[in-house]
Amino acid sequence: TAKDLGGNQIFNYRHEDGRRAEYIFLIEHELREALREEQLECYLQAQVDETGALAGAETLVRWHHPVRGLVSPGDFIPVAERSDLIKQLDMWVLERSLEFLSGWQQQQRDLTIAVNISPRTLRSKHFVTEVLTAIERAGANSCGLVLEITEGLVVEDLSGSIEKMKALQTHGVQFSIDDFGTGYSSLTYIRELPAQELKIDQSFIRGVPESKADIAMIESILTVAKNLRIRVLAEGIETAEQAEFCKQRNMWGQGYYYDKPKPHADWCEAWLSHEG
Ligand code: C2E
Ligand code: MG
Ligand code: MG
Ligand code: MG
Repeated sequence: TAKDLGGNQIFNYRHEDGRRAEYIFLIEHELREALREEQLECYLQAQVDETGALAGAETLVRWHHPVRGLVSPGDFIPVAERSDLIKQLDMWVLERSLEFLSGWQQQQRDLTIAVNISPRTLRSKHFVTEVLTAIERAGANSCGLVLEITEGLVVEDLSGSIEKMKALQTHGVQFSIDDFGTGYSSLTYIRELPAQELKIDQSFIRGVPESKADIAMIESILTVAKNLRIRVLAEGIETAEQAEFCKQRNMWGQGYYYDKPKPHADWCEAWLSHEG
């Protein structure tokens, strides 16, 4: 069936026709194979501090599909999230990311690496121990690790998630709330969730400088974060004007304006080879 679906359409799991279950089954099968056969790759995208200086990178997974070519996570993460597959995937990405971090630390580079963790992975039973084991195995200093979680779904097991976050934080691991502002009652959750960083969703940044509503949202998030002493990072910065807007407000930044996600070797070449 793969052939007649064409292109990346097969990953459109929202497909409403009768073959939807079949697609999901197929993608799950192929993803398991992808994990075994190393078809996945970690891309990196720079994150900058409020002065525009390099602070670290976020790891964004890519799938080199043998037939369909390079596939973006938006097309397969939702399928992986339906089963324990997501945990395998997240841990694989985490292990690679910790190897990158360890390498930077050996070169005396004080950088962070941000890794996306699905709520399902965070909720898994031995998550805390497994993260600590992975840090140790990579020989990394845990202070450089930032785990990005999406607040919307953590809510399913809020107290359990908070407990795990706190346990890892005592070891120096930082947490960031991804896509902030898109969830339901976001501002109340940051009161509960122990996080060092909020990532303002790119949909708000897209409205800068035209949209008064988006700017008002950003300003109110900043007010709350400032009072709670939580760092704010703006996602999806694409223009010099947006970059300036964010810097003026002491936000960290990430987006195509600064860097496009790229393979680890290319990223190190672009960001680390000409200084230090
Ligand atoms: P995210 O964590 O919110 O990542 C930001 C997404 O925005 C990335 O898409 C990134 O490539 C894209 N982006 C960065 N800068 C810009 C910009 O200036 N403009 C625009 N329009 N987009 C920008 P990507 O790589 O396709 O990843 C999509 C989502 O997939 C991520 O959203 C994250 O939720 C998820 N994801 C990626 N890797 C992993 C992973 O290893 N594990 C899990 N659980 N989820 C992952
Ligand atoms: Mg993220
Ligand atoms: Mg995001
Ligand atoms: Mg996202």
